[in-house]
Parts: sequence; C-alpha cells; structure tokens
Amino acid sequence: MTCTAEDLVRALRAVAAAVADHRAELTELDRVIGDADHGENLRRGFLAVVTKVDSADLDTPTAVLKAVGTTLISTVGGASGPLYGTAFLRAANAVTEKSEVDGPAAAEALRAALGGVVARGRAEIGDKTMVDALSPAVDAAVAAAEAGGDVAAVLAAAAEAADRGAESTTPLVARKGRASYLGERSAGHLDPGARSTALILRALASSAGA
Ligand code: ADP
Ligand code: MG
Ligand code: MG
Repeated sequence: MTCTAEDLVRALRAVAAAVADHRAELTELDRVIGDADHGENLRRGFLAVVTKVDSADLDTPTAVLKAVGTTLISTVGGASGPLYGTAFLRAANAVTEKSEVDGPAAAEALRAALGGVVARGRAEIGDKTMVDALSPAVDAAVAAAEAGGDVAAVLAAAAEAADRGAESTTPLVARKGRASYLGERSAGHLDPGARSTALILRALASSAGA
C-alpha cells in the first residue's frame, strides 16, 4: 500500500489522539528532567494540526506535511516545537511532486526529518534527545524499504526501533536541552522527546495498517 494526502490526514488524527492519550505520561517524564510541559506542548500542537489539515484543502502529501510543520512551529512552544516543525517541513520537501508516498519515499521522508532535527538542534546520538529515537528509526526504515517493505512495513520498523531508541535514553546524561542543566542527575530517566518520537511513529505505523 501507499499513503495519499487523505491517508496522511487520517494518520495525523491518530497522532493527535495518541499524544492526547499520553499527555500525562509525557508531562511526567518532562517534570522529572525538564519543565513539565512536553505533554501539553504536543497536545496543543497536534490539536492545532488536526484543525489545520481539516480546514485547508491539502491535496498532496507534501502540502499536508508542510501545513503540519508550520502549525507545530507556530503553536508548540519550547524546544520541541521548532524541532518537530522542522522535521515535518523537511519531510514535506522530501516528497514533493508525489501524489502518494510508498515505502522508499516514507524512509526518505524520515531521513529528511532527522536531518532537520539535527540541523536545528545539533544533537548527536547519545545526547539523550529525540535524536536517540529518530536516528535508529531512520536506519530501520531505510533497511525495511530496501527489503521491499511498503509504507506500513517501513513505519512499523521505524516505530519498533524508535521504541528501543527511546528506552536507550534512560541511563544517559543529557547533553542538549533543558535536561542538560541537571548534568549527572538527568541519568536514570527516560527522555520525554525520545518517548514522544516513538509514540508519534507508532501512531503513524498503526494508521498505515501495521
Ligand atoms: P522545552 O524543553 O523547551 O520545555 P519540550 O519539553 O517540549 O521543550 O521538549 C523537550 C524535548 O526536546 C527533550 O526531551 C528532547 O528530546 C528534545 N530536545 C531538546 N533540545 C534538543 C536538541 N538540541 N536536539 C534534539 N532534541 C532536543
Ligand atoms: Mg519541557
Ligand atoms: Mg518548556
């Protein structure tokens, strides 16, 4: 299967629902090593995304993804808004001219999204950020696409790897973002942004039928 603009809008509703369902969990993770706003930041942002993609006439995947990026940048405060916003804008650029996203295009979009996050936030693997979830997700997505996987298979592989990547942040000492202010005391706690990245990918994969 492939993913049309309409499929993508449905997937974004699933992401908004997942983020809303996990608002308290994300906020609690961010309370421990941040400022307790990650759940609310993302809930507000993806609610605005759903309103936006429902009201505008967006007939290509690139148009939908671009609307997501600009909406997240304008409605989510803090570090994660510009990071996720840039991720979606770069993903939009990776699928221009396509009316449907297939497995390889989905992997390319994820790779572009990671490039955006890194360009914006300068985090490396091991810095205890969303990059620790997104980077292995991209590797798994590319491998799944190369093995002939469709969108659902590519996103499922990405979600699986992101879950493990998010878990891997627990022992790490944060070197980027607010959690880095805690130094060694940030170790022993899951990174909220890595967790939300895994949640978002899981919702996208489920919506694609994985
Ligand atoms: P804020 O820290 O401004 O309150 P959020 O709570 O919404 O913003 O998001 C925090 C998350 O953002 C962190 O858990 C981390 O995953 C991510 N993050 C912060 N700084 C960076 C960075 N430079 N690069 C990548 N991700 C980052
Ligand atoms: Mg925060
Ligand atoms: Mg904040």
